[in-house]
This record gives sequence, structure tokens and C-alpha cells, in this order.
Amino acid sequence: MNAILQTQEPVHSPFGGSVAGRILHCPASVALVQSVPAYLRKPSVYAARGTACHSAIALLLAEDTHALVGGLAGKTFGNYTITPDDVANALAPAYAYVETLLDTPGAEYYLEQRVVFPVIPDTWGTVDLVVRIGRTIHVCDFKFGVGVSVLALTPDGDEDVINAQLLFYAAAARHSLPEFFAGVESIVLTIIQPVSIDVDAAMVSSVTVTHAELDEFVARYRVACKEALSDAPRLERGSWCRFCPARPICSKHTAPLLELAQFVVPTPPAAPADKTSYLQALAAGLDLVNAVKDLRTALHDQAKRALENGDQVPGYALSAGRAERSWHNEDTAIGALIRLGLARGDVIAETIRSPKQVELRAKARGIKVPQELIVSNRSGVSLVRSENAHAPVPGRVETARAFSEALEAFQGGRQA
Ligand code: SF4
Repeated sequence: MNAILQTQEPVHSPFGGSVAGRILHCPASVALVQSVPAYLRKPSVYAARGTACHSAIALLLAEDTHALVGGLAGKTFGNYTITPDDVANALAPAYAYVETLLDTPGAEYYLEQRVVFPVIPDTWGTVDLVVRIGRTIHVCDFKFGVGVSVLALTPDGDEDVINAQLLFYAAAARHSLPEFFAGVESIVLTIIQPVSIDVDAAMVSSVTVTHAELDEFVARYRVACKEALSDAPRLERGSWCRFCPARPICSKHTAPLLELAQFVVPTPPAAPADKTSYLQALAAGLDLVNAVKDLRTALHDQAKRALENGDQVPGYALSAGRAERSWHNEDTAIGALIRLGLARGDVIAETIRSPKQVELRAKARGIKVPQELIVSNRSGVSLVRSENAHAPVPGRVETARAFSEALEAFQGGRQA
């Protein structure tokens, strides 16, 4: 294996790879995002851990590809300290996959490589890992956030959509490293995502693309970026809004606030006949509240970070949370408390981790947890939109009707 290392480029391009999917769908987002102060553009919680895990794995690969991953626990990158859980669930499995790839005879690679996209000025990104083995190039992207599972190829109706971020990195890498790509016949795009909220999701998702598909993406992205710079770019709401920092100022998301201001409080029904319109008013109110719920999170997150940064958000301030007591030193406290006469069980509670926590650890070690060890109890009934009701609970009237029908069928059967 032969590593080719480059210095990291910390500055983000407005058309960079991580936002390619959003720009293809919503070119207007480019100008809107520019209105958001740069330090508020990334969701902080994901950024700190994700960036630290990226740096940690880059450090391992740069120093010694057979280094011990366990040594990363306790190391701080930026303002995040890698935990033993990060090592066990995310870094170790991701590193094991990459190690196998890089151990292939003749493998050459670029790590954390800044690549420039063709035909669009000032457009670049940093690709996590580009590996060449014979006539095949592997373009790899690590995803260390514990979010929804991201696939290299996502089915969308009759179509299969290739991940735009990976296409961006592949096209930019091919443009920036022409010699490395010389004679390459196939390009494998891979997402390595050790942990996601979907415990059954595979860690590695890949798709092979051709040079022609990269050419087609370059042309399509160029059109979207051109539109972004035009006078009237498309503003389109969809799943790509999820990480868009412009949500607090985007009319597609703030419009429900105006509708909420015009919301007419339903009057109590004067007669039973009014019940239908009253229930419709309840549904309309819930629709509006749901529409602004995500906006609340985005507003709250950005305002908090602005205040933490020392900026003024008029009318808002940070307030210290509730004081939480803890032991100065747990080992010293355990010994002292037991010597005082407390039983060990009074001091130490040994609890088993939740099935999800254990399943995550088991997955990282290639172990399957027997499902008969787990029992599933619903915590109660919650209110959701009908299309999101995974396990619909019938109302009392419906339950009574079903019972009466079953009873009739049973009695009919006995008379027959
Ligand atoms: S929030 Fe969604 S609709 Fe609004 S600018 Fe961003 S991507 Fe476009």
C-alpha cells in the first residue's frame, strides 16, 4: 500500500460536495445559506463528534495503518474527546473495513484529499479516501453521525438515485488527479457508516459508476449551480432541507408561522352537528404546529450557538442548567462509603444496557443478538399523522364494533 498525503483545506466551498444534493434540488438555498453567519451553518452536536472521528481515523491511516484503534479513546480532537463507545461502535469497524481495502496488494491511496470540481469556479471539497487498486478506483466517504442511514444508491419510485456527494467527490477527484485516474475502468462509490438509527442497516453501502455517469453528473451540477447564481433560482422544500442552515429564514419553512398567526380558535360546538367542523379545526391546528416544530429546533440551535459565541440575540440569554451532584472521585467514594457501613448494593447499581445499546456493540463485533432475549412493550399511545401511524390503535367505537362483529360471527357459528 502506498499513501499519498496532502494538507487539509478547512474552508468550505458554497458548492462543495456535502451540499451537492441540496443544491441539485434547491438552487436558491446557496444564496440563503450565505445570509447565515458561517459559524452557525453546521449543526454543532453532529459536527463535533463527526469531525473528531474523521480526524481520528485520518490520524491512524496517516501514521500507521496497522495502529491500535483502541489507543484513540481519550484523545481529544477539536473540542471532542473520543470515548470507548466511539472506538468500539464506530472507529474500530470502519477502520477494519478500510484496512482490508488498503492491504490489497498494489493499493495506492489519497487521504483527506482536497479536490477541485471541474467547470464550476471556486468549487472544491475534501474527499475522505480515494484508493486505486489495479483499474478500479474506490471513493470512500465516512459518516460518523448517528443519524438516518445514508446509502450510495437510494431507490426513489422507479428510479435508483446515486448519492450526489459521492458523485461530486468522484468527479472532482478524477479532475484533480488525472494521472491517478489514468486507465481506470470502474469507479466504486462507498459510504462507510458504522452507526445509524437503523440498527439493521449495513455498515458499507457501495455502487459502481462509469465515467459517462460522472460526466452526466458534472453537466447536471453545472446547470444547478448556474441556476443558483441566477436572479430567480428554484426554492424547493424536501428531505434535503434536513441539514440546511437557512431553515430559520427560508419562506418554505417560515410560511406556516403566518398561517399560525391567522389560525382561528375553534368555538365549542353548539350542537352535536358541529362536532365534525370542530375536529377539522383541531386537525388544522395540529398541521400548523407540526409544520413549525422543526423550525423551532433550528432557531433554538442557532441562537444558542450564537450566544455561546459571545454574540447578542436580542431578548435571549443563556441560563445555567440545574445543578447536578456527582462524586469527586468515584473509586474513592465507593471505598469510603462501604467503610462507613453501607453495603455494596447500597452504593453500586449494576444495570444491563438496553437492547439497542447491546445490539450496536454486537453489530460492531459481528455478533447477532438472539431475538428471543428481547421483549417489546409499547410505552403508550401517541398522536401522529395518519400516514405515520406504524401501529394504528383503533378507537373505542371501532374496538366495540370489531368485538360485536366477532361475537356475532361466534354466535352464528354455534347456532349452525
Ligand atoms: S430550507 Fe429547504 S427549501 Fe429552504 S433554502 Fe434550505 S433547502 Fe431550500
